[in-house]
Amino acid sequence: MIEANKEILKMFEKVKICPSCNTVYGEDVYTCKKDDESLIEEDLIKAVKICKKCGEINSPLSKECRKCKEILAEEDIFKYKDLILLKTKELTIYIYNNIIVGRKYFPKNFQGREYISREHGKFLKETEDWYLIRLEKSKNPIYVNEKELQKNEKIKLEKGFKIRFSRMTQEFELYI
Ligand SMILES: [Zn+2]
Ligand SMILES: [Zn+2]
Repeated sequence: MIEANKEILKMFEKVKICPSCNTVYGEDVYTCKKDDESLIEEDLIKAVKICKKCGEINSPLSKECRKCKEILAEEDIFKYKDLILLKTKELTIYIYNNIIVGRKYFPKNFQGREYISREHGKFLKETEDWYLIRLEKSKNPIYVNEKELQKNEKIKLEKGFKIRFSRMTQEFELYI
């Protein structure tokens, strides 16, 4: 039995997001500096910023990625309930709606990295359900619980599923 994202919850910080302009502030800020909008308790959320370039998880107040120095924007903010995880023993990939998973998310020493395409699979959240699609550009299959996905095939995901981005790569476990 797999716990939902508890492990990453501790990386989330409380911030306030201005309802008018989406600027992010610490929890003890009460007025938006850009438009004087009042920030109330209801604007408080637990969030992180995920770097779209390297996949690193950052503080929601960070302006640049701590790993690759990419500039982070307000649209890189994610709430706890909008993320799922792909995990091996050594690697965690943070999955958000519409993410395209490809080679850039895997470290150079990842077993079988050369078999992972630049655009290999796409994850989608539709209502409360998560799906994985094998993309047209993928040169190798995706295996979900050892079943091979064809190009453009879409599969509904459940927690504990085992996902592999080619026959030769390490297996991930899905945390929902
Ligand atoms: Zn504002
Ligand atoms: Zn980065």
